[in-house]
Amino acid sequence: MKTYAYGFPRLGMNREYKTVIESYWAGRIKEEKLMREIENLERKILHTYKANVDNFPVGEMTLYDKMLDTATLIGLYKTKTINDYFRLCRGKNALEMTKWFNTNYHYLIPRIKENYKPSIFKPEIERLKRLCSDYKEGLPYFIGPFTFLKLSKSANPQNFKFHLMEITDLYCDIVKEFHAVHLDEPALVLDLTEEELKLFRLAYSKIGRYNANIFLFTYYDSVDCLEELYDLPVKGIGLDFINGRDNFINIRSKGFPDDKMLFAGIVNGRNVWKTDIKKAASILKELSLHSKNIVISNGSPLYHLPVTVKGEKTPVNDKLAFAEERLGEIATLKKIMEEDGKGITILPDDAFFNNHPIEKTRLSKKFYVRSLPYSERIIKQKKALNLPLFPATTIGSFPQTPDVRQARTAYKRKEMSEGEYNSFIRKKIQATVELQEQLGLDVRVHGEYERSDMVEFFAEKLKGFATTNNGWVLSYGTRTYRPPIIFGDIERQDKMTVDFIKYAQSLTQKPVKGILTGPVTIIKWSYVRDDIPVEKIALQLALSLKAEIMDLEKEGIKIIQIDEPAFKEGAPIKKRNWDRYFSWAVNSFNLCISETKPETQVHTHMCYSEFGEIIEYIMKMDFDVISIEASRSKGDIIDAFKEKGFKKQIGLGVWDVHSYQTAKSHSMIKVIKKALSVFSPEQLWINPDCGLKTREWKETVENLKNMMKVVEVMRNSKDFLLDDGREV
Ligand code: GLN
Ligand code: ZN
Repeated sequence: MKTYAYGFPRLGMNREYKTVIESYWAGRIKEEKLMREIENLERKILHTYKANVDNFPVGEMTLYDKMLDTATLIGLYKTKTINDYFRLCRGKNALEMTKWFNTNYHYLIPRIKENYKPSIFKPEIERLKRLCSDYKEGLPYFIGPFTFLKLSKSANPQNFKFHLMEITDLYCDIVKEFHAVHLDEPALVLDLTEEELKLFRLAYSKIGRYNANIFLFTYYDSVDCLEELYDLPVKGIGLDFINGRDNFINIRSKGFPDDKMLFAGIVNGRNVWKTDIKKAASILKELSLHSKNIVISNGSPLYHLPVTVKGEKTPVNDKLAFAEERLGEIATLKKIMEEDGKGITILPDDAFFNNHPIEKTRLSKKFYVRSLPYSERIIKQKKALNLPLFPATTIGSFPQTPDVRQARTAYKRKEMSEGEYNSFIRKKIQATVELQEQLGLDVRVHGEYERSDMVEFFAEKLKGFATTNNGWVLSYGTRTYRPPIIFGDIERQDKMTVDFIKYAQSLTQKPVKGILTGPVTIIKWSYVRDDIPVEKIALQLALSLKAEIMDLEKEGIKIIQIDEPAFKEGAPIKKRNWDRYFSWAVNSFNLCISETKPETQVHTHMCYSEFGEIIEYIMKMDFDVISIEASRSKGDIIDAFKEKGFKKQIGLGVWDVHSYQTAKSHSMIKVIKKALSVFSPEQLWINPDCGLKTREWKETVENLKNMMKVVEVMRNSKDFLLDDGREV
C-alpha cells in the first residue's frame, strides 16, 4: 500500500508564516524577502511530507487563502503586484469572508462578475512546474472547479452551468500541463441537487480527457453520490473515513472500481487524539476486500491541527497526535499493512479513555425550561431594566491594544503579580465604562480585557480542559488561535467572570451584561473526546456555565449574554444530521439559563453565518434578546424571522465591525429601516454586529458615536420619520 498526505499546516513550527507576512504588511521586510521566506516554509513542509509519505501535493502554500489563489489563477482577479493581491484580503476593498464548510477556517469569497472572461495566470503554472520537478513525488494542488464555483458568489446564480463549463475548459488546459493532478472537491460532500451532480459529472468527464491521472479529493463528510463517480475518467478518489462514516458503508455495499485508487482517509485531520492503529488497520484490511488499490491517507486536511505535539506539556501529551504525528501514523499503518497485519497485535491497547470516563449526567426535561414564558418575562424585565426605546449596546469586547496583550503575557510569565494584573484590568474596565457613559450606551459591557480568546479564557479556568503552549491553528489569513483540548469531566472550580463584571457594574447605574461563551462555541472551537457522545460534554459544560450564571445573578447582574458565534458552524454538513446536533445545541443553551429569574434578561449573540436556514432551531432557544450579524448577509435574516413570526427582541448588527470602512449613519439607518418593516420598534436593539476587540480605538469611538446619533434620530423621529421627512 502507498501513502499520501495533504493539507499540512502552513503556519510553521513557530508561526513563521504569520510573522513573515505581517512583517511585510508592516513594512519591515521587502517583497523579495517575503517570497523567499514563504518558499522556504513551503519547501520545509514538502520535505516533511517526503520524509513520511510516498506522495503529496505541491502548491498548497498561499500568501493568504487558496480560494483567492484559485480565483487569480483563473483570471477572475488580475493582481499584477503582491499588494494588489493583499488588497483583496484586507482593508477597504477586501473580499467578504465566510466559514469553510463546517470548520473554523474562513475563506475569501470570490465574486464572479457577469462579464468574467476566464484566462490562466501563467506564472503560477510555471511555479508549480518548477516545484514538481524538484519533488517528483509531488502532485500539483488545485481546488477543483466545482467546489470553487459552489463556494463563490455569482452576480447571477442562474449562470452556474455557464461559468462551470467555462472554467472547466480552463482546467482542461491546466491539467494537461502536468503528469498527474490533485483536485480538491470537498463540495461533493454537500447536499447536492441532481442538476449539480450532473454538472459535476459533465465537468470531470471533460477534465479527465486531458489528463489520465486526476486525483479527486473529498473530505469532512461522506459522498452520497459515490457510485456516480465510478465511471468518471479519474484515477483516484479520496474519501474521509473519519468524518464520513457512510463512506465505509457505501463501499461495503457498492464496492469500488478496480481501475481506480482509493485514498483512504483513515487518520483524523480534525481532532487530536492518536489514531487507534489497530482499528485503523482493520478498517484498511476490510477496505482492501473491496478495492485493489488503496492509498493510506488522512481523512481531511491536516491544517485543522497544530504542527506538532513536541514541546507541549499537557497532561494528555502521550495521547495526542498533531499534524506531524499524523504523518508518522500514516507511515506506521503502511508498515503494518505491508506485514499483512502481523504488526497489529504488538500495539498496546489504549486504556486511557476508560480511565477517564465523562460521567453520565442525565437531566429530566423540566431542567431545560425557565419558570415563565417570554410573554410574562418581558413585563418583569421592563420593570427591572427600564430601558428606552431602541436600547443601544455593544457585543462585549473593546479594543485589545498591545498594552493589554503585554500585560497578559507578563502576568502569565509571572513578571506581573496577580494583584498588579487585576488592577491593570480594572483600570481598563473603568475607562471603558466611562466611555460608554459619555457615549450614552444604555446597556454596558466590561470590555472583556481579561480574555485572550473567548474560548481559551474559559478553558483555562474549567476542569477537564488542557491548553497548549504552541498549538496554533489558522482561522483565516494570518489569524491564529489555540484550540483547547477537552479531555476529562468538565467542572467549574471557581467563579470565572464574576469579579470583573461585578466591578464594572459597581461603576454605573446602567445595567452591565454578564457575558459568557456558550457550550456549542466552546466545544466547536476546542478538540473534544471522540469516544464520548458530544451531548454529554455539552451537558457538563452547560452545568458549569449555569453555575456561573447563577452567581452573576446573585451578584446583581441583570442581563446575561451567552455568545454562540459557532452555533451554525457546528451544524453537520448534511441536513439529515441536523436534528441530532441542534437538539443538544439548543438544550445546552437552555440548560445554562434554566434557573435564571424571569426578570433577568438573557441575550445571545451569533455571527458569521447564514442564519436563515437554521431559524427554526434559533426559535427554540429560550433567550429574550438575540444580537445577530446582519450587515453582511443583509435582508435574509430579517425575512427568516418574519416568516417565523418572531416575537422577542433583536439587535441587528448595524455596522460590520470587520470592515475597515467607517460606519456611516445612513447605512445603519438602512438596516434599521429594513428591520422596522418586520419588527416593531419595541423589539429592536441597536448595536454593532460583533465584538470590537480587533479594532482600533479611534474607529471604535468614531463608529460608536455615529451609532448613537442614529439611536437619537430614531428615538426622536415621530412615526420614525427621518429629519428630512423621509420615512425610516
Ligand atoms: N462577546 C464577544 C466579543 O465581543 C463575542 C465575540 C464573537 O462573537 N466572536 O468579542
Ligand atoms: Zn460576533
